[in-house]
Amino acid sequence: MKNDGPMDHLDDWEESLAARYPAGDALQVPNASSERAAFRDYSENVRPGIREFYRLNHRHQTVDFVEAKKQQYLPLRTKRMGVWEAMEFLNTLVDDSDPDADFSQIEHLLQTAEAIRHDGHPRWFVLTGLVHDLGKILCLFGEPQWAVVGDTFPVGCAFSDKVVFPEFFAENPDTQTPEYQTPCGMYSEGCGLDDVQISWGHDEYMYHVAKDYLPPEALAMIRYHSCYAIHREGGYTHLLNERDRQLLKWVRAFNPYDLYSKGDERPDVRRLRPYYEELVAEYFPPVLDW
Ligand code: FE
Ligand code: FE
Repeated sequence: MKNDGPMDHLDDWEESLAARYPAGDALQVPNASSERAAFRDYSENVRPGIREFYRLNHRHQTVDFVEAKKQQYLPLRTKRMGVWEAMEFLNTLVDDSDPDADFSQIEHLLQTAEAIRHDGHPRWFVLTGLVHDLGKILCLFGEPQWAVVGDTFPVGCAFSDKVVFPEFFAENPDTQTPEYQTPCGMYSEGCGLDDVQISWGHDEYMYHVAKDYLPPEALAMIRYHSCYAIHREGGYTHLLNERDRQLLKWVRAFNPYDLYSKGDERPDVRRLRPYYEELVAEYFPPVLDW
């Protein structure tokens, strides 16, 4: 299946994230001037496909778009399948031109999960690593790249310059709605992220698929793992409540496994499958609604 979008591969975005946030910088204080400079540097040197991808994303992710996609997908009536089946389904999303890409999606999930397991974290945390990106199957339902991956951010309030490529928000029609132009926009201060609409993509979709089965910490990791403006750049603090501040610690704990487990050795899918099938069965029913 060929990817239809400005990026050659869906994974180009995640590779660009690892470039924006190099592993050694993981513990740097957000907003330190050196990191701001690196952030700017990244925007200026990024590949044209990535830039175009963000231009489309920031142009089209509006309140109306998010609400329409939620209405379309969140009844979860598109497909019924088990977790491992979803992993294999996601793996059909490969680019024909790349012979190494055959196992790339399953490999990323297993590498993330294995790195978490290696560090001795609880079983639900390992499982979260395994499933966190399954929402990318939205691509296989015909959604464009910009509506599946990319940094996520709140809609319905002023766009923060802590979101990468903030200049592209000028083309977003929501900037014409005065109600959305204040820091809180359609929300109230400290309302909590549960009440905030976040741009649509694989995070929000997978959160809804998993929400009856995993603990709150796991669900926060899944739902906000692409929201770098909040969990990494420290933006939108005026919308957070105490619960969010606690849960974001888990999102930050998860992030390095997502970004930096790629270079690890190729996982042996056949050898690992029995362990993960058992782990999946511990939390999820055999068939899920997607
Ligand atoms: Fe992801
Ligand atoms: Fe990921």
